[in-house]
Order: sequence, then C-alpha cells, then structure tokens
Amino acid sequence: MACTRTLGRLSESAYDFIDEAYLHHLLEGQVDRRQVQEVLAKSLAKQPLDPEETAVLLKADDPELVEEILETARRLKREVYGNRIVLFAPLYVGNECVNDCQYCGFRRSNADQVRRTLTFEEIRRQVQALEDRGHKRLILVFGEHPRYSPSFIAECVRQVYATRSGRGEIRRVNINAAPLDHEGYRVVKAAGIGTYQVFQETYHRATYAEVHPPSTPKGDYFWRLDALARAMEAGCDDVGLGVLFGLYDWRFELLGLVCHARHLQKHYGCGPHTISFPRLQPAQGVTRQWPHRVSDGDFKRLVAILRLAVPYTGLILTARERPEIRREVMRFGVSQIDAGSRIELAGYTETADAQQMDREQFLLGDVRSLDEVIRELLREGDIPSFCTACYRLGRTGEHFMEFAIPGFIRDFCTPNALCTLMEYLQDYASPETRRLGQTVIQQELEKIPPSPRKQMLIDRLRRIAEDQERDVRF
Ligand code: SAM
Ligand code: SF4
Repeated sequence: MACTRTLGRLSESAYDFIDEAYLHHLLEGQVDRRQVQEVLAKSLAKQPLDPEETAVLLKADDPELVEEILETARRLKREVYGNRIVLFAPLYVGNECVNDCQYCGFRRSNADQVRRTLTFEEIRRQVQALEDRGHKRLILVFGEHPRYSPSFIAECVRQVYATRSGRGEIRRVNINAAPLDHEGYRVVKAAGIGTYQVFQETYHRATYAEVHPPSTPKGDYFWRLDALARAMEAGCDDVGLGVLFGLYDWRFELLGLVCHARHLQKHYGCGPHTISFPRLQPAQGVTRQWPHRVSDGDFKRLVAILRLAVPYTGLILTARERPEIRREVMRFGVSQIDAGSRIELAGYTETADAQQMDREQFLLGDVRSLDEVIRELLREGDIPSFCTACYRLGRTGEHFMEFAIPGFIRDFCTPNALCTLMEYLQDYASPETRRLGQTVIQQELEKIPPSPRKQMLIDRLRRIAEDQERDVRF
C-alpha cells in the first residue's frame, strides 16, 4: 500500500509494510510442540525469524512451551551474547510538545505540566552531574516542538560532547526525538550522534489514530513509520525502533517490529541497531483505562521472543520497569539498560529523591543509583560495560558482528567491557562496588586462554588501575 498524507518527502523505500489483515491472520489458530521446536532450532542456529515463524512462538500458550521459549532465549543469551550489559542514562532536554499523545505527561493538553527547556548552561550542568557519577553514554530526549529543530538538537549534542568534569566525558550521545526529514537527519548526524530512536508506539492504525489526534504532527502514522528509513538514507546508520507496549495487543506489535526490522534490512542492508519495548507507566493526569496492558508474565515472553526473532539487534530495557522484573528479563538477552536515571527536567541536580509527576513524562519503576545497579550486576556475575569502541572506531553494525563473527565478543567486546569497568571502579565506584568489580575482572581474565591479546588486555587494565591511561579501545 502506498503512503498517503505526509509531512514531507518520504524515503525511497516508502510503502506501508504493515499488512494488518495478514498479521492478524498469522496470530489465529493453534500451534503444536513440533512447530515451536522447529522455530527454536532455527533461532539457536543463529537465524533471524520471519513474521510467520515469530507468530508460531507468539501462539505458544501452553506453560511448558512458554518455558521452553524462555529457556531457549536464556540459552542464546548465555552462549552467544555473554554476560555484558551496557549502561546509559537518559537526559531530558525539554518537555514542550505540540502533540497530544493520550498516554504521555508531556501532551499539550496537560496544563498541569511545568514546561521547561534546559539552556545550554543547564545541559552542561546535568552532563557534569552524570559524568561525576561515571556515565559515558547518554540519550537526549525531547518533546516535539518547533524549538527542538535539528540545529537545536545538534547543538545540544555538541554541548554534551564538549562538557568535561574531571576525568569524566560522554563518549556517545543517542537521540530520542520526533521524526525528521532527510535534511534534519543530516544536520543531527553531523553533530556525531550515535543512535536515532523513533518509537512507532503502535503499529495498529486504529489504535494509533485513537491515541495520537490526527490534527497533531504525530497523528501522521506514515510519516512516523517511514522515519527511520529516511534517517538511514540521510546517513544515520544506527537507528532504534520501539513500541509502547500496552496500547494494543502485544503479539501484533511484536510482529510489527519484526516487519519493520526486515523492511530496513531489505532496503538498507542493515536492520535496526536497537529495539526498545517500554510498557505504559502512569503519567500525570492520564486516567484512561488501557485494556491491552501487558502483564509481567507476557512481558517476559515478549522479550524472549524478540530476542529469538531479531538476533542481530540490541535490546534496550529501561528503568520504567521495577528492579525485580529488570533482573529477570535481562537474562533473555537484553544488551543495554539505563541506570541512575532521573527523567524530571534538570533531575540530576535539582530534584530530591521522590519523583515529581508534574515535571516528568511518566513514573519510573527503578530509581536506584548507577553504583547500586552496577553492584547488583556484578553480584549476578554480569559485566557492566560503558563501551563505545565500535561506534568511535567506525565499526557500525556492532550487534551483527557480536552475533555473526566468531570470536568477536572474546576479542573486542569483553576486553572493552572490562577496561571501561576498570575505569569506573577507579574513578567513581563505592568501596564495595570496587571490591566486587575487581573480583569479577579477575574471574573474567581467568576464563580467557593465554594469548598476546590477553596479555595486552592485562597490561591495559594495569595501566588504568595505576591511573596511567583512560579510554583504551580494542
Ligand atoms: N517526543 C518524541 C516522541 O514522542 O517520539 C520523543 C520522546 S518521547 C519523550 C519518548 C518515548 O516515551 C515515547 O516514544 C513513548 O514511547 C514513551 N512514553 C510516553 N509516555 C509514556 C508512558 N506513559 N509510559 C511509558 N512510556 C511512555
Ligand atoms: Fe510529545 Fe512525545 Fe509525549 Fe507524544 S510521547 S506528547 S510527542 S513527548
């Protein structure tokens, strides 16, 4: 189907690749154990799933089959991706918004929201506060407003990169903002952004129209559906998809994500860098009932099935979720989480411990500090990582390499994770976290067979520990 009403020039590949009737049809009927196991075998053979195969997993409701799916995702995570978790923090730049998304605290009809856009000086102060806690990776978040033009977003990115506090620096800045046109993406790309995220929110048109009034820019479903294709044409090769789970049937949405990922792969030779799967959280003045809210049990299933369906894509789990859920869901192959997050405007310097609904988009489920989250990851045997090496060395498609190139994790990802962890332990960690971290580094080194590369890693870790070196990269 061709795209209809739009806000500007669409991508070369623009067409409506969400065939709703077909996706609904795929979700009908029953599946048996043999069908499920065939699909799981394909995932374990490191092959992406098509929508038909993904639907087989989505239709498996029998508790034993569900457990088999969860266990296969855990196994894939253990055997292929290893135990690294990349950490980042969100930085909300402004909550002015011309849209009226019915679930969001920033929607324009919410007169009780305190509106604010950080000045560049305020951005620098937030960045310093984040650097002082040890962060190296940020995502800048914006409402949709003429003030947040591509050149403004680009300048915010430059301000972040230019801000230093002691040894602290931000090495990768990602963006979550409204869809842009080709020229807009070129402008933000030139500022050195990492990933550009645009969440479709829901792939189901009727639901989309219900929660995004057609009179607002976000009301244009096709402009948004085509957003990341335009980004790729304009040179942003790292893009992030997402669905706001709870607006419509999670099974349908998951098929939508798979179709979207395949569309990008087919037309641009590269799928999305990441997929995010936020669940609806309470937001200021949002009283509406959401019949499609996703239970914890279904949330686990959806993350596991996503892991099995899109093996070349990083999965992002945010602090919207409570710590217990995060802990469990991480085992299914999540690659990035945010930590120590505050989403009130200027929340890293100005707000007390309690969350302030009149200054934030929604309520967070996990408000633990970065140090606490790192400590827990270490206790669970994970390697917290601040690695930004691939992006800065021009190695795009890092998830593809992790997954597809034998030895890539051993030779690049783990050494980089350990070096960035050592930096954190030296410069920012509490004594308890430092002690645990050093033990984990030793344990990880013992797993690596002797080689010149291992010796190089040991030397680099020593130089970091002796404060002779920072920002080393494999
Ligand atoms: N304004 C831009 C947009 O809408 O694309 C970008 C930033 S928006 C602040 C980031 C994301 O937050 C949205 O895409 C949406 O998925 C999510 N979000 C909004 N309201 C939410 C809520 N109540 N609970 C959880 N996530 C929410
Ligand atoms: Fe604005 Fe984004 Fe919130 Fe919609 S989700 S009201 S576009 S900030």
